[in-house]
Amino acid sequence: MTEQKTIKNDFYLEGVGLHSGKNVRIHFVPRGEGEGIIFQRVDKQALPILTNIEAISEANFATIIGTNGTSISTTEHLLAAIVGLGIDNLLIEVDGPEIPIMDGSSQVFVEALTDAGIQPLNSEKSYVEVSKPLSVKVEDRWITLYPYDGLKVTFTIDYPHPLIGRQRLSVEINPESFRKEIAFARTFGFKKDLANFYAMGLAQGGTLKNAVVLDETHVINPEGLRARDEFVRHKILDLLGDIALLGHPLRGHIVAYKSGHALHHKMVHALMERKSGWSYRPAHDLYRPALRRPSFAV
Ligand SMILES: [Zn+2]
Repeated sequence: MTEQKTIKNDFYLEGVGLHSGKNVRIHFVPRGEGEGIIFQRVDKQALPILTNIEAISEANFATIIGTNGTSISTTEHLLAAIVGLGIDNLLIEVDGPEIPIMDGSSQVFVEALTDAGIQPLNSEKSYVEVSKPLSVKVEDRWITLYPYDGLKVTFTIDYPHPLIGRQRLSVEINPESFRKEIAFARTFGFKKDLANFYAMGLAQGGTLKNAVVLDETHVINPEGLRARDEFVRHKILDLLGDIALLGHPLRGHIVAYKSGHALHHKMVHALMERKSGWSYRPAHDLYRPALRRPSFAV
């Protein structure tokens, strides 16, 4: 059976919020079977926020989740690490309105969660299994979701910038591939947009230590890129963080073209609102056909 997972030991992480510029401390606490991924604002008398479709509150430059007027912003890189490592149950206590940006990727979260130890639980994983294709579209951006025996993402981006252009990558997602291929990819932005962000009160904590910044022709960061196609890898990372809002791991092939947080959320909503074409499926159902295979006597 594929067991649900949590972490072995609790731990703390500290860092700066990208948009608020404020220091934030997170406490990661192991959780039991079926409890899910829960955020808790400990600086406020607030209800816990369960990571699911009802928690999506906004998505322009980051994924904000919340209930009853309390919210937590920039959850996607942490949620990507949780989805990527296959963690099902975890309590995340935060003493501020935003998850710290760390280095702009999922790397620090992946390392810290791995160091805490991934702990299998005594209960099977339940998946959201796609059985019929589904498409969502806004202008020239779209996502199509196909049935697939596992989780796979194929992402294409197309930016009118000489260093980015059209990048396409297809990755079969599991903890190993996530650690190697996706977790290191940093968020990115354009120097020409920064003045607008600052004026809107966003990116106050943004530095070259937590984002790739491009001018008209170059990457400004002295260390350069971590991979030539770091940009499309980060888009896959963001998408994985956003599908955490399904509340269960997904089995399907996500094909995305120029998508972003808002469209990712549209897909999550469209899938959950559709009454057919997907189902919750415990892990043991997935392996039943293999068990039925005739055995050969030697
Ligand atoms: Zn991102």
